[in-house]
Amino acid sequence: MTTDVLKVTLLGTGIPNPSIHAFGTSTLIEAGDQRVLLDCGRGAVIRMSQLGIPVGYVDTVILSHYHSDHYSGLFDLLMSGTIPQGWAGRGKPLTVYGPAGIEHIAEGAWIVTKPDRDIRVNDNEIDAEHMRIIPHQYEEGIVFDIGGLKIIAILVDHGDNIPSAYGFRVEYKGHVFVHSHDTRYNENLISQAHGADVFVHEVAAARASTLASHPKVKVAIDHHASPSEVGRVFAQTRPRLAMLTHLALLPPDPLPMDDLLDQLAAEYDGTVLIAEDLMTIRIGRNISIEPYRHPAR
Ligand SMILES: [Zn+2]
Ligand SMILES: [Zn+2]
Repeated sequence: MTTDVLKVTLLGTGIPNPSIHAFGTSTLIEAGDQRVLLDCGRGAVIRMSQLGIPVGYVDTVILSHYHSDHYSGLFDLLMSGTIPQGWAGRGKPLTVYGPAGIEHIAEGAWIVTKPDRDIRVNDNEIDAEHMRIIPHQYEEGIVFDIGGLKIIAILVDHGDNIPSAYGFRVEYKGHVFVHSHDTRYNENLISQAHGADVFVHEVAAARASTLASHPKVKVAIDHHASPSEVGRVFAQTRPRLAMLTHLALLPPDPLPMDDLLDQLAAEYDGTVLIAEDLMTIRIGRNISIEPYRHPAR
């Protein structure tokens, strides 16, 4: 890998609704000698294996918030990653940074992994400590700063019942990647997304008739940013490349993609790319996007 490239792989771009095409949110950051997983949603280890990346390749995870679609894959990564074979092989604990409450996830993981851990320890496969989560609680600001890779947590607004939800600004050798994670329209995110090469933002939408007749859909949508709001975010930050992820176009009768893009375009005149699982983004002298199914891969 070219040493000054910030490489971002979108392992999962989905929401809680199970989909073979869009797994739970998970993003692999690779820069120099460093690799960090931002969120670990459903199926993250499957996506890693599709790319030929060993499950034990990552020993550091940063969680954005505690909706299940952002961390339900953590326990697969934690347990399967310890298996001493070429496809796994993490011979150390998993370091996990999270907002307030991360210690409960570490404590709970230690309890629920005990049966599997005991078997593998008795078989002399692993050291018990390999299956431990080492928790670090973070606040807004720098979460990770090693080997030139800096990851900065940005406090966002994911609704009144979620006081600690964060997006991330990732910096490496002058290259900048910003991921909103889950948020409503948020001025703090806008102010900290300046100068982004690539800015990935979530979006959610439903027809007015659906919102009126399905109050639970309205509850879900109210936690997120509308297409026109995301357009306003991009218009104020002007990234070199804008991308949409975590598309919550909720049933029944979901809003068509054309309608979403029309609403966004009313606010933003730049290029917008819709993220897919397993897209690799290389941010260096230029920005290149490689979809998973390209024949050269
Ligand atoms: Zn989510
Ligand atoms: Zn969420």
